[in-house]
Amino acid sequence: MPLATYQAKRDFKITPEPRGSARKSAHPELSFVIQKHQASHLHYDFRLEWDGVLVSWAVPKGPSLDPSVKRLAMAVEDHPLEYGGFEGVIPEGEYGGGTVMVWDRGTWEPEPETPDVAAALRKGELKFRLKGAKLKGSWVLVRTKVGSDGKASWLLIKHRDRYASDTDIASAKPRSVLSRRLMAGIASAAGGNVEKAMKADPPKEK
Ligand code: MN
Repeated sequence: MPLATYQAKRDFKITPEPRGSARKSAHPELSFVIQKHQASHLHYDFRLEWDGVLVSWAVPKGPSLDPSVKRLAMAVEDHPLEYGGFEGVIPEGEYGGGTVMVWDRGTWEPEPETPDVAAALRKGELKFRLKGAKLKGSWVLVRTKVGSDGKASWLLIKHRDRYASDTDIASAKPRSVLSRRLMAGIASAAGGNVEKAMKADPPKEK
C-alpha cells in the first residue's frame, strides 16, 4: 500500500485533503509541486511525481536559487498525485493543520547523470531539472543522514546554470501559482486562521 502512511495520518471525514490512490498519471511528463504550508511551523513541501505518487520532502526555509545555499529537506510520507492540486485549509488539530498554497508547479525530469530515478532515490542523490512557473533549471537532492527514528535528512541545492540567482525567490514571488492569492487570502476564503496565515506572507504585501 504505497499511500498507507499518508492515509493513516489523516481523518478524511475532517480534512479537505484528498484521500487519493497511487496511480499512473494521465500525462507523459512527470509533475512536481511545491506547497507553502503554514502548519505549526512554516515550510515548503517539495513533491516530485514518481511511480504513481508524489515523493515528498518538507523544506523549512524553502528552495534557494543560490547554488552556495543548501536547504534542509526532511523526507516525509509519499502523497497522492491529486495532492498537487490541493490549496486550502487543513483544520486546526488535524495533522498538518494550517493553510496550504500551491506555490509552484510544473514538470520535472532526471538529469542524464542520474537517469534511474528509483536507484537515485535509494542511493540518496538525485539530479533533476525543473520546469515550473518559479523554479527552473538544474537541481540536486542529496541525502545526508537517516536519524534513529528512520527519518531521512536531505539537502536541496540549485546547480549553477542560467537560472541560478541571489534573488530570494520565496519573498520575491509569494503568491499562489493556482489562484494568485497570498496565504491570508487562502485562509480567509476557507474559514482558516487569517492572522496565523498572514505571518507567512511578506510584510510589504500585507
Ligand atoms: Mn507540510
